Amino acid sequence: MNSSSPQFIITPQSETHVQAAVICSRNLGLGVRVRSGGHDYEGLSYKAACPFVIIDLVNLRKVSVSLDTSTAWVESGATLGELYYQIATRSSTLGFPAGVCPTVGVGGHFSGGGQGTMTRKYGLASDNVLDAIMVDANGTILDRESMSEDLFWAIRGGGGASFGVILSWKIKLVPVPPMVTICNVPKTLEQGATKLAHLWQQIAPKLHEDSS
Ligand SMILES: Cc1cc2nc3c(=O)[nH]c(=O)nc-3n(C[C@H](O)[C@H](O)[C@H](O)COP(=O)(O)OP(=O)(O)OC[C@H]3O[C@@H](n4cnc5c(N)ncnc54)[C@H](O)[C@@H]3O)c2cc1C
Repeated sequence: MNSSSPQFIITPQSETHVQAAVICSRNLGLGVRVRSGGHDYEGLSYKAACPFVIIDLVNLRKVSVSLDTSTAWVESGATLGELYYQIATRSSTLGFPAGVCPTVGVGGHFSGGGQGTMTRKYGLASDNVLDAIMVDANGTILDRESMSEDLFWAIRGGGGASFGVILSWKIKLVPVPPMVTICNVPKTLEQGATKLAHLWQQIAPKLHEDSS
């Protein structure tokens, strides 16, 4: 049966609410869709081909930055903009290499990879994940140590919802300069934009890794 509307939208306030939602949905034979920022291009966080519920992580969006260890714990419902803002309020020389759109959700972004302006230097967002807390299909809470390295590898690029609900991520913050220089060269097609883009493709890979 096709189902474009969920039976329920559950908005957990805590990890135990997520466990309960997974276990109840399973007992009732309902599918589960997980939504963090809702930016999925194909609607995978809010559509299904069977009766389903949405677990919407809108209330789980805390960001805790540790300057001592240059790490942060970020809950999946936070947006990239909220993550960047919280890091920036604590330090002007630490950042995190992820996407450019501030309203994208951490949950879908980290579990799908996540690329942005610092990818050349530091890799994908998922390359900089150190630990994660998730609820699996049995409703069990797992961290990196208890989930196995294979599962930890899979949730960092393999699409988190295939494996469970990722609640939060421990990330490695990276050094950034306190000031960034941006160069903007507007060109129309008539002014040779195509030629310029082609030239840029030849030059860009040879530039210093600090430029993107
Ligand atoms: C306007 C826009 C700008 C973008 N910019 C960039 C960019 O600069 N760089 C880049 O790399 N990508 C970019 N993307 C792509 C974006 O990173 C992906 O679409 C990402 O999956 C969105 O995550 P979300 O949490 O917002 O979406 P959602 O729709 O909430 O989730 C996306 C997928 O991940 C699953 N999921 C979400 N949260 C969890 C969770 N906590 N546990 C398990 N599974 C979960 C969902 O079920 C769904 O399958 C952009 C997309 C848009 C629409």
